[in-house]
Amino acid sequence: MKKRSFISIIICMCLMATLILTSCGEKADTESKSSKNTTATYVESDDFSYMALVNKTHKLPKNWEKQLKTVKMTNSVGDEVETEKKAYDAYQKLKAALKKEKIYVDLDSARRSVKEQQRIMDDFTKQYGADYAAKTVAKPGYSEHHTGLALDLYLIVDGKDIVENEDMIKFTEIWAKIHKLLPKYGFILRYLEGKEHITGYGYEPWHIRYIDDAKAAKEITDKGITFESYLGTASEDPVKIDYGKSKLYTKKQLEAAVIQIKCKFAFWHECKLENIRYAGDKAVTEKNLKWINSLDKNNKYKKICEFLMDFHTPEKSKDDALESDHEYKDYQWWLAQNEEGGWDIVSQGY
Ligand SMILES: [Zn+2]
Repeated sequence: MKKRSFISIIICMCLMATLILTSCGEKADTESKSSKNTTATYVESDDFSYMALVNKTHKLPKNWEKQLKTVKMTNSVGDEVETEKKAYDAYQKLKAALKKEKIYVDLDSARRSVKEQQRIMDDFTKQYGADYAAKTVAKPGYSEHHTGLALDLYLIVDGKDIVENEDMIKFTEIWAKIHKLLPKYGFILRYLEGKEHITGYGYEPWHIRYIDDAKAAKEITDKGITFESYLGTASEDPVKIDYGKSKLYTKKQLEAAVIQIKCKFAFWHECKLENIRYAGDKAVTEKNLKWINSLDKNNKYKKICEFLMDFHTPEKSKDDALESDHEYKDYQWWLAQNEEGGWDIVSQGY
């Protein structure tokens, strides 16, 4: 039986922050809102609901933890996993249906209490400092995993547990078959590819969410929309992305940078992202590299890039730093490549 380390438990990005700093309002919304893409209208509540929205701008409802009924199980690698009761029953049915197709899954992680998240935040703060903790650990109260309705699956292929994200993501055919079956049992795939500016997370084929409504789940899945836009808190209008031409970076590297920007944009309450464009290799100068490295003495970056963004703020901006109903043009994002080869957002603004 393999016992996984503390660090490996928090590897999943949906349990973490997306390695980006948060500067723009993270307080929970308090109003309901509808938009033209809406099928349902989201109403904020303090109570438990299978249709509750918990994301980077919507906090776990106040009475949730005292109303939540959970079950605990031990998975094939020996970890204890806690889920909401009805979500667990639905998961068992999904698992049985998958078994008939010779697809084997288990639960990697599901519920994590706000207190537990706070404990991890405190541990990280003590060990690595507040800045690193804020960048690495999801803010307590704003993770969908608090609900007990979000489940992270892992695959068992040829009798082997496939638990690491970079390994799991390769099994695209298996995931496609799993995703097809989700709505029937009241589940949706939560973090869709290309929708990072709405969900705040990169694509996670393993993170599924129970909503206890097969009809709604089917509609969301068939339309390929996010839970946010189904509930009317976000718009699915397409975002124009222009990677331009670069001799310094591959398209894949620039795509990874854009995902970081989009994930951070998801913190901006109801702002509408219009387009993102690569500022060009001309922005990658020795002078700019020197400036970036002067911002944080702890880092010694070698590669940087710049993107520009246009976005529009809502009629009544919930963010003090942003004007209401305003068109922001050429907003700048500076990123630098970290030791792991990923991008850190190092500066943003005008
Ligand atoms: Zn997850």
